[in-house]
Amino acid sequence: MESTIIWLVVFGILILSVLLYVRQFRGRRSSDQERLRQNRESGMDRPTGQYPLIDAGACIGCGTCVSACPEHDVLGIVMGRAVVINGARCIGHGKCAEACPVGAIRIGLGDITKRDDIPVLSPEGQTSVPGVWIAGELSGFALINNAVAQGRKVIEAIAATGGPREVGPSGVLDVVIVGAGPAGMSAGLVAGELGLSCVILDQQGAGGTILQYPRRKLVMVQPVEFPRMGRLPRHEYLKEELLDIWEGLHRDYGLDIRIGPRVTGVKGKKGDLTVETTTGNWRARHVVLALGRRGSPRRLNVAGEDLSKVAYQLVDAEAYKGRRVLVVGGGDSAVEAAMGLAHQDGCEVTLSYRKPELMRIKQRNSERAEAMIAAGHLDFRGGTNVKTILADRVVLDGPTGPIVLPNDEVFILAGGVPPFAFLREIGVAFGGDQRDAERVAAAMAAKAAAAPGGVGSGAQTA
Ligand SMILES: Cc1cc2nc3c(=O)[nH]c(=O)nc-3n(C[C@H](O)[C@H](O)[C@H](O)COP(=O)(O)OP(=O)(O)OC[C@H]3O[C@@H](n4cnc5c(N)ncnc54)[C@H](O)[C@@H]3O)c2cc1C
Repeated sequence: MESTIIWLVVFGILILSVLLYVRQFRGRRSSDQERLRQNRESGMDRPTGQYPLIDAGACIGCGTCVSACPEHDVLGIVMGRAVVINGARCIGHGKCAEACPVGAIRIGLGDITKRDDIPVLSPEGQTSVPGVWIAGELSGFALINNAVAQGRKVIEAIAATGGPREVGPSGVLDVVIVGAGPAGMSAGLVAGELGLSCVILDQQGAGGTILQYPRRKLVMVQPVEFPRMGRLPRHEYLKEELLDIWEGLHRDYGLDIRIGPRVTGVKGKKGDLTVETTTGNWRARHVVLALGRRGSPRRLNVAGEDLSKVAYQLVDAEAYKGRRVLVVGGGDSAVEAAMGLAHQDGCEVTLSYRKPELMRIKQRNSERAEAMIAAGHLDFRGGTNVKTILADRVVLDGPTGPIVLPNDEVFILAGGVPPFAFLREIGVAFGGDQRDAERVAAAMAAKAAAAPGGVGSGAQTA
């Protein structure tokens, strides 16, 4: 009798555990489906660089890849198969592929003839424009170690092209490197090592995207061999530690880095290219574009935007306790920043958006923002545009006239301008151009065929 009761209890616990697991599993799957729907609406499902290519036939839907992803919400399980839900957050760690028990995932760029955001490059990194090279994340491959390796490869290929190496009387450098992120810094270090004359230009600061990481973010670095400095001894660094290493490289190897100029164009011919920037032009035999993929922050172009209190990225919300802050923008980044700031003690936050209502943001953000606005924790000013930024206040243009707000800090989070249009202006070809060329050829053939006397028009020649 006693053993029957024990068996019944064990059986009951077993059934309960299975039921709980199934419930949790179903809950997770339906939330994955909802996340996929939301991200498709906002375009966040689309990867920007390399991403997990999933063989749906081989995937068994176990979810191991989902748990293995260090970025947490890139993958999900929908209809019993792994899918990319938040592709824009994938930075190519490749942990999902390592973890997949059936080998159904590999990391890659997919078919680049379908990609309008992947430039066509030679194996060494030269673009379709002779003398213009690409290194780092702009090529589609993320991660610091890839960027460092590509920076080296490109400069070694440039050095192998030979040619004069002194800055001639014409002031033509061997290389202008655009971008002081991991790829640009690595390229600069190798250029110095190989005796190439070189300058690095960056609109923001040495460190590239790392500067934009949240404060004290733990950065995972795959084995990375820095030119001249050697291998980084650890696999994990705090953002601040990594920036200290950057600072050391800059100082110890005498890199010529110019912070501030934004490169706006590259003109000229092979061997004598002109790099146009917001602060003047540079001439070089080769140009290495190590721009990353984040592009330049969208500016408002209003009076006062150059004041030091204006920023285009929120890194450390805690530092703004007790401040009067204006956040400009209506996307997820602006709304998330505004809410994060509004949680800080004494921080008074106004969110200015040019449309009357917050739309096109994730459901979760929309609900949280609405609650904070209703509770008076966030001052939302819909239908407003920033007119002027002054040292102690801002003026907004509102539906009923100007609004003056006392102000200490301004965050303009109105999105970024991706670098692809800029590359196209230079003449750089993209993977998707091939598809477009085929489309144009097909359209022209169809047009010719439809024209009187055209092939297939039914018209007959004698
Ligand atoms: C939130 C986040 C977390 C990440 N975590 C990790 C991690 O843990 N481990 C890892 O290995 N990788 C991580 N990455 C990816 C890694 O940061 C990037 O792959 C790497 O920084 C790419 O280096 P890059 O040199 O190609 O470009 P970037 O680092 O993006 O640098 C590009 C530089 O070019 C400059 N620039 C752009 N346009 C112009 C212009 N027109 N004129 C002048 N300058 C210009 C920019 O100001 C910038 O400084 C993360 C990325 C993000 C966004």
